[in-house]
Amino acid sequence: MPGFEVFGAEEKKEIQDVLDTGVLFRYEFAEQRKGVYKVREFEEQYAKYCGTGFAQAVTSGTAALKVALTALGVGPGDEVITQGFTFVATWEAILEVGAIPVFTEVDETLNMDPADLLKKITAKTACIIPVHMLGSQADIVAIVAIAAERNIPVLEDTAQAAGGHIRGKRLGSFGTCGTFSFDAVKTMTTGEGGMIITNDQELWRTMSEYQDHGHDHKVNPGARGGEGRRFIGFNFRMMELQGAIGLAQLAKLDSMIDAQKKTRDALLEAALTIPGTRARKVIDPEGDTATFCCFILSDRDQAAKVNEVLREAGCGAINFAENTWHFYPRWEHLLNGSTPVKSGWPFAEPGGKRRIVYDPEALPQSADLIARTLVFPVPVKMANDRLQLMCEALKKAAAV
Ligand SMILES: *Cc1c(COP(=O)(O)O)cnc(C)c1O
Repeated sequence: MPGFEVFGAEEKKEIQDVLDTGVLFRYEFAEQRKGVYKVREFEEQYAKYCGTGFAQAVTSGTAALKVALTALGVGPGDEVITQGFTFVATWEAILEVGAIPVFTEVDETLNMDPADLLKKITAKTACIIPVHMLGSQADIVAIVAIAAERNIPVLEDTAQAAGGHIRGKRLGSFGTCGTFSFDAVKTMTTGEGGMIITNDQELWRTMSEYQDHGHDHKVNPGARGGEGRRFIGFNFRMMELQGAIGLAQLAKLDSMIDAQKKTRDALLEAALTIPGTRARKVIDPEGDTATFCCFILSDRDQAAKVNEVLREAGCGAINFAENTWHFYPRWEHLLNGSTPVKSGWPFAEPGGKRRIVYDPEALPQSADLIARTLVFPVPVKMANDRLQLMCEALKKAAAV
């Protein structure tokens, strides 16, 4: 990560095609655009890459989550289950549609623990959002089986794992739909941008219309054409310039992942020389995107000592127990119910009665795991001397 490291002539050529027509908008202007439809082409290529029937581009990964949840019919009165280790965007989107986020533990995949998922399902559960965090697969086959038995849709938040798969089947294509982010730090980037994939044509049509103010896309699937509208919508339309960049970045995705794997393998090999250390559990190593190198130490004291050695060498690792963006007990705005809305929504009902209260101690299994996990982001390009320095530091840490 991220794709801007390989930004080059291919992206510039795609952007130039758009600038040559002067049409920055994905819909209409049929004559002026001379057949250039970059967002539509990006959607087609993305769906093909993922092996799904349909793809819908939107403005961000967070918008993708909101559009998908809305199209699935999720709203006030519903609960949506996700994991307590994810980026804040996942539960922001749940709150944004008026539903209540319910958090599960993570297991050694560092993703949703299917055993805890079973305990969290209620009659109000309207959707389950497993996240393929830090580039590696959630136990998605088990999760989809649990959901299917109960007729609950699964939305895979695949923002951090574009290009990942399990035995050839792409992440994001196991559930009812899957969402992606192309923000500045993701493996493939369009600056800002997002995508939703699905095999359900009706669901796709709803998403397509919703993200375009409810314009009727019926007579012209994926584009405008009709005069009617079935429902209210909003604007989450991707620009042609983003679609252009996405096409060039998608063509580089596999080679970026291959490069990351080599670096990740070298780092992990050195990390595993630390006594008692385990790699994160990866369901299919072939399909891992190697965007991050994660290793789990025997306890939090050891993790702290190891990281001290790494920091002294100038290559400290991320400990997500110390990071406030990705782990439940550190989301103080969620726990405190902080919102700019005067009525207190979405944490309080109109009238002020608190409708959601979270216990910071609710996820002890995750707290234990996350505190003893160290993580290196893996760039696409890493200078050899930097990699050597990191491997040496890890071996030094193994000796303390
Ligand atoms: C980045 C990210 C998002 C949100 O994507 P944006 O494009 O930044 O809105 C959602 N979920 C996860 C897990 C992410 O890492």
